[in-house]
Amino acid sequence: MTMGIPILTYHHTQAAPPRGSAMRSLWVTPDAFASQMRWLHRLGYQGLTMSALLPYVRGEKTGRVVGITLDDGYLSNLQHALPVLKRYGFSATCYVVSGMLGQTNAWDAKQGITQTPLMTEKDIHTWVREGMEIGSHTCTHADLTQLSTTDVQQELLKSKHDLENILQRDVTQFCYPFGRFLPAHEGLVREAGYLAATTTHRGRAHANDRTTALPRVPVVRSTHSIQFLLKVMTGYEDGKRAG
Ligand SMILES: [Zn+2]
Repeated sequence: MTMGIPILTYHHTQAAPPRGSAMRSLWVTPDAFASQMRWLHRLGYQGLTMSALLPYVRGEKTGRVVGITLDDGYLSNLQHALPVLKRYGFSATCYVVSGMLGQTNAWDAKQGITQTPLMTEKDIHTWVREGMEIGSHTCTHADLTQLSTTDVQQELLKSKHDLENILQRDVTQFCYPFGRFLPAHEGLVREAGYLAATTTHRGRAHANDRTTALPRVPVVRSTHSIQFLLKVMTGYEDGKRAG
């Protein structure tokens, strides 16, 4: 049994909207993010993109590594997370919604979640030029469980194609919007040409996990330093795995 590899999940990296705002937990302040990255660095961990992390997940490489993923493609990731990642020589994967670049998280509007700017085409170019990775989070942040198979395939293929066109490089990482997918979607993800897909299932990733349904470790506003370290270094999250 190999040690689990934590794949951290972030969303916003900026100060939270006012108290009482919906899903405020998804906002991690730049200071908290910087402190977490500093801890990783001090403890000898290297933060990696999903592409760089996969050989470790599969057990082909060993080392003190964590995956760093940021969902949705918020501009705050470029503004506040990027400089910190670079400071420590870390890399990270940002999953963007290809059809909504430069817009806001409109898919959250119904739940009253604060609308926040997403990176533009130019921004994702900058993200990649600085050594980071872009993955797909579909074209429209669709709940795949509500779509026909054809529409799921379209979301998988078109987002990949459009992002590859913009970035002029392969896009091989995928993340299920809202963490929602059906077992059959894993095959479609692979057929579309993705090498891995991440979920909202909790736990550290192990060699026997399917790469099309990798568990992750959520980091939220209330995650304090000790808890962060427990999540990374111990079985804390593995105990929260379903099934
Ligand atoms: Zn999302």
